[in-house]
Amino acid sequence: MFEYDLLVVGSANADLVVAVERRPGAGETVLGSDLALHPGGKGANQAVAAARLGARTALLARVGDDAHGRLLLDSQRAAGVDTSGVLVGGAPTGVALITVDPSGDNSIVVSPGANGRLTPDDIRAASALITASRVVSTQLEIPLETVEELVRGLRPGTRFVLNPSPPQELPAAVLAVCDPLIVNEHEARVVLGADAGTTPEEWAGALLALGPRSVVVTLGDEGALVADASGTARVPAVKVTAVDTTGAGDSFTAALAWRLGAGGSLTASAAYAARVGAVAVTRQGAQASFPTAEEVAAV
Ligand code: ATP
Repeated sequence: MFEYDLLVVGSANADLVVAVERRPGAGETVLGSDLALHPGGKGANQAVAAARLGARTALLARVGDDAHGRLLLDSQRAAGVDTSGVLVGGAPTGVALITVDPSGDNSIVVSPGANGRLTPDDIRAASALITASRVVSTQLEIPLETVEELVRGLRPGTRFVLNPSPPQELPAAVLAVCDPLIVNEHEARVVLGADAGTTPEEWAGALLALGPRSVVVTLGDEGALVADASGTARVPAVKVTAVDTTGAGDSFTAALAWRLGAGGSLTASAAYAARVGAVAVTRQGAQASFPTAEEVAAV
């Protein structure tokens, strides 16, 4: 009945990464490594993660009519993502300028570019794609008014998944349809504001009180906590040796959204997503680290 298991609406960025001995201070110039160029952005990452697992996945995003945009389209198609909803032009492709020092600490400047031009009109024009999708997942690297239009246009019965990253306080109409709202600690604290509490159980309880049908708090190497009207449960992490946690949250979210759409319970879907995240952190990179279903079955 649905053409797509998952529609990801969100950002697509070119990640420009330079390794440095020391990140520059104000007015300073430092020399770094050769440039590494990777496809990224939370929307593009989630779409690739889901498609690699075998989900029938589409991406609704905007890139520039430039080399970075073509890189992003190529990486989506290589993973099997339907890119008919990717709009081209209007601004340069979004970029993340990343410097990383030997301790792994980084400094990042993001130019949203075309991501900032994904408008409510673009959402309205994509209503057929949205209607054809069992689950719709988004993040906040696109304008909030675009997310609000997406929520307004959802059909009853379409499952909506939100990772509010970068975090901000959310309108009640958006919170009310999240099933689940997926946050890490930082995102939980920003969405909740002053009265966040101190434990994941407290964050989840306070977030549920804001209106979402369910909440998932990701806890890195401690796994995740899931919560809905029936109660809360801890989902343990799979024990692995992490080498690069970039993209762990995106792969977890994509996997969770897909399994929920396939009829999995919140706990079972989060347990599967934890296995996906665990494989992703054992490999370098974001999209490059996302596993296939066969690789997940092996852990
Ligand atoms: P990021 O922003 O770095 O992509 P995040 O903060 O949104 O990540 P995390 O909580 O770091 O999300 O990771 C998502 C999930 O991936 C976790 O809930 C966990 O299941 C899995 N995971 C992350 N780090 C590890 C780890 N070191 N070992 C095992 N599993 C991990």
